[in-house]
Amino acid sequence: MSAIANRCVITLNAGSSSIKFALFEEVSDALKPHAVGLAEMAGEERRLTIRDGAGEIIHQAKRQERSDVPFHAEALRRILSWRQGAFPNANVVAAGHRVVHGGVNHAAPALVTDAVLKDLEALIPLAPLHQPYNIAGIVGAREAWPHVAQVACFDTAFHRSHPYVNDTFALPRELYDEGVRRYGFHGLSYEYVTRKLREIAPLHAAGRVVVAHLGNGASMCAIRDGLSVASSMGFTALDGLPMGTRCGQLDPGVVLYLMQEKKMSADEIVDLLYKRSGLLGLSGFSNDMRELLASERPEAQQAIEYFVFRIRRELGGLAAVLKGIDAIVFCGGIGENAWQVRERALEGMEWIGVELDRTSNRANEEIISSERSRTRVFVVKTNEEAMIAKHTLALFDAQSRRAA
Ligand code: AMP
Repeated sequence: MSAIANRCVITLNAGSSSIKFALFEEVSDALKPHAVGLAEMAGEERRLTIRDGAGEIIHQAKRQERSDVPFHAEALRRILSWRQGAFPNANVVAAGHRVVHGGVNHAAPALVTDAVLKDLEALIPLAPLHQPYNIAGIVGAREAWPHVAQVACFDTAFHRSHPYVNDTFALPRELYDEGVRRYGFHGLSYEYVTRKLREIAPLHAAGRVVVAHLGNGASMCAIRDGLSVASSMGFTALDGLPMGTRCGQLDPGVVLYLMQEKKMSADEIVDLLYKRSGLLGLSGFSNDMRELLASERPEAQQAIEYFVFRIRRELGGLAAVLKGIDAIVFCGGIGENAWQVRERALEGMEWIGVELDRTSNRANEEIISSERSRTRVFVVKTNEEAMIAKHTLALFDAQSRRAA
């Protein structure tokens, strides 16, 4: 394994049954990934798989679950001991954590202190399926690496620039005041993509851009001059586009029906809307776009059709919010790879200036609009880990300067 001469950052993205992590080295102004790993609980098994920066597996381990040791704590210990063995001289100065919710107060990454942790715990009711695990990751990392600075990077922060009309629901004002707002998510991905676009096409990046982050989670965002002005996701990561297993936009009357007529409990509704809906619910067999595209079952085709339909609707709406559009960017597993979805989402979109180059689109090229297209269309590989690492090092340096 290559030696590491410069400062390093570890990024962590802790979910309910997995921790994604990466080890970056600062090389000149760039961050070089040395390892990208996944610790996961799969049934009775705990697995750890680590790849190098080129995607080759460099470490793989499996063991049966030991119920007396919590998953997050144990996974972090194993990640740490692997890192010490594989890169004993790596000078890890900070750990950056993906945190789904920063509430109204966190419009930028934050150094984790006891007060910040308390703040994040208070937001658990707003993101009960993600926030507790993000916090467990931070707490575990603080214990495992007590001398390393911990930085929280929020998926909501990028959207704090929303104007009031895109931040609110038409509910009584006191609910807005207590935090019932349209927060928007996938912010780290949007921020990364926006910066990347600035390198590829600075003029377009300074204009009116709609980014479609289409992965297992999916959302779209209107960005003007690099700032988020509207997002398809709202109070939770359920709203907007349908996703792998999440429903996307839904008439709240459906939830009332499920409660009042079907007598479903809150937990049952959570399970239905988060885990059994979206592409999985519509197709009846898969949340994986690759499987749906390969299937001839009519339900699979309808699931894709609904997904595409909602992207088109959102695109029209966000273009209207921006009063026109200069660029569209696709990212996420589906956005970066599923040319069929992009082709269908952009069919007949000449009215907002889009003319697709079908050949470039089918080859997943970086620019997939034709030379004549007034609106340029890009495919950008997103990298939330790199964004977290950048923020983490920047905050660490700012903090060190302040302390000096
Ligand atoms: P993500 O959450 O960003 O990792 O994206 C996961 C989604 O991307 C899944 O629905 C995958 O089926 C989809 N995906 C990944 N690679 C491809 C591909 N080559 N073609 C179509 N869909 C893909």
